[in-house]
Amino acid sequence: MIENFVHIHSLPSYRVKQFNVAYYQELIGSYDDLLTWPKDLRLQLQKALRFTSLREIKRAVSLHHDTEKILFERISDNKRFETVLMRHADGRNTVCVSCMIGCPVGCIFCATGRMGFQGNLTAEEIVDQVLFFSRVLKKEKQTVTNIVFMGMGEPLLNLNNVLDAISIFTDPKKMGMSERRITVSTSGHTDNLKKLLVHGYAGRLALSLHAPNQKLREQLMPIAKKFPLDDLLGVLQSHAEKTNKRVSFEYTLINGVNDTRKNAEELASLLRHRLTHVNLIPFNPILGLSLKRSTVEAIQNFSRVLTNKHVHHTVRVTMGDDIAAACGQLAGKI
Ligand code: SAH
Ligand code: SF4
Repeated sequence: MIENFVHIHSLPSYRVKQFNVAYYQELIGSYDDLLTWPKDLRLQLQKALRFTSLREIKRAVSLHHDTEKILFERISDNKRFETVLMRHADGRNTVCVSCMIGCPVGCIFCATGRMGFQGNLTAEEIVDQVLFFSRVLKKEKQTVTNIVFMGMGEPLLNLNNVLDAISIFTDPKKMGMSERRITVSTSGHTDNLKKLLVHGYAGRLALSLHAPNQKLREQLMPIAKKFPLDDLLGVLQSHAEKTNKRVSFEYTLINGVNDTRKNAEELASLLRHRLTHVNLIPFNPILGLSLKRSTVEAIQNFSRVLTNKHVHHTVRVTMGDDIAAACGQLAGKI
């Protein structure tokens, strides 16, 4: 850490400030560009502190050039994972960060879950994914406007590192981003969700719901057995009421599994009177899985039922599926 380096070398505290401005705000590409520091000090820094924890292995860009996926290798143990940048037509640039390599939750429709769990990413490794794209975008005079924890892994099962990363994203002396531009997406670990909220997290929340009832949810997401839907929805509802902010619910539409009219009606009655927004995500196919995306007709019918029942929702436009960068397709092998 820079604070340690400054302390060990008995440097004045303004050196930390200069470092933070150059590193997190001016987005220098190497310590050579830390021009507010004298050269000999820069050389010492170079020897003591690596510039980044990640190595870029491969880059894939979607046909429409709106989605970019990087296969990273972390320097500490050469394990690989992926991060995605989505350039939206409205000017937002969203980085979809990973917080783990693989995932222990094992949802049956998710490529990351099928990899199994290979390790947590540190706060530094999470932040370095965003800094990587911030440096890319800087060359185009653009910035990262949003961060979503929707890459590999379950953020609430790596809570401390995720919270540390968020504090670097939002620290005005570092990246200075508004917490409202950060989204934590979870498969629903109710205990750790409570911890996140007690910690004072003020960013957005997305719950991966995917089923309108406990029974079907358990079949799709093993974590649902341990954390029943009623409790989970109760915690989210009281948070929504307290903050007056909608909680997003992700609902992946899988052909013949959770996409019938009856499923839609049940979902509408489950969410009635709740401050929510439902994101319908057409299922993204995973190699080796027989599950299929719902038909266009089924998606339209599902959406129509929600509209008739006044459930706030959108159908997500799938980005980057041609490079396996869409939701649930990340499996560490471009
Ligand atoms: N572990 C967290 C965040 C990462 S997954 C979570 O589960 O919420 C990001 C989103 O992609 C989740 O809503 C997840 O359910 C969804 N997803 C996973 N596999 C998918 C697939 N094959 N097609 C569409 N969405 C998928
Ligand atoms: Fe893990 Fe989320 Fe994939 Fe489930 S959907 S296996 S929680 S990454």
